[in-house]
Amino acid sequence: MKKWLLLIVIAGLIGYEWLERSKENVSNGLKIEHGQLITDQGTKDLTIIPKAQIYQGNLLLVNKDYPVHDSGVSKDIVTLADHDELIRGYALMDNKTMLSKAVAEKFVEMVQAASGAGAHSFLISSGYRSNEKQQQLYEEKGSDYALPPGYSEHNLGLSLDIGSSQMAMSHAPEGQWLRDNAWDYGFILRYPEDKTAITGIQYEPWHFRYVGLPHSIIMREKNFTLEEYLEFLKEQQAISVTVKGTEYHISYIEMNGNTPVPAPKEKHVEFSGDNKSGVIMTTYSAENGDAQ
Ligand SMILES: [Zn+2]
Repeated sequence: MKKWLLLIVIAGLIGYEWLERSKENVSNGLKIEHGQLITDQGTKDLTIIPKAQIYQGNLLLVNKDYPVHDSGVSKDIVTLADHDELIRGYALMDNKTMLSKAVAEKFVEMVQAASGAGAHSFLISSGYRSNEKQQQLYEEKGSDYALPPGYSEHNLGLSLDIGSSQMAMSHAPEGQWLRDNAWDYGFILRYPEDKTAITGIQYEPWHFRYVGLPHSIIMREKNFTLEEYLEFLKEQQAISVTVKGTEYHISYIEMNGNTPVPAPKEKHVEFSGDNKSGVIMTTYSAENGDAQ
């Protein structure tokens, strides 16, 4: 008799679990079965975006309201001086300077292009900062000149302070060249002179942030700070742009736990959180098998 009772209990538990899952399947207004989205037009494959993606990626907004999440720190931070190929064409103010390796590679590519245009005295004065290092800086410089640990873009590994070994960046040819061209390499001037009311940070002609293509180019065209660009994407929900011959589709996804979206049909898919509550999905099908 006990065996039968046990079987009934198990059957009941399975039934309950099935009911709960069915409820999950209709969340977000989507009907999902076996990893596929069921629509009036048929079924579509799904991609599930993990919730943690909100705090990871090249488009993260970091400021006094949105600190760096532990999982948001770049995974490929290296000490630049340890890699000969990453310290070509510019000088380091401090041999211990660290940065995301992928960002450093883009920076080397950028300074090579600049040197052909007469700007060849670049100097990196700061890169990735650990929370301990940010704390030290905060204590030394005070809240007018430094941000508390976790609230600086330097804690992400995607930002760097670039100087000229000749003169102040505001007057140096290196500064002028970067203001005009950094965008083509995925970098943005993060704290422009005319946007201090939006960024909450004084004009910093030396501070550049990597966000990647096509985002940096859209931001230049529209004269957007990162704050404005993320708001724009959230409002628009989805945009398409052609940059350097490649068509990109960019969509903003409001996250609700692990969030399913129809699987994109393009070959390349990149996700980045906004560090608030959404994820930006960028897709493209590279022409000739080689885009950005
Ligand atoms: Zn900086």
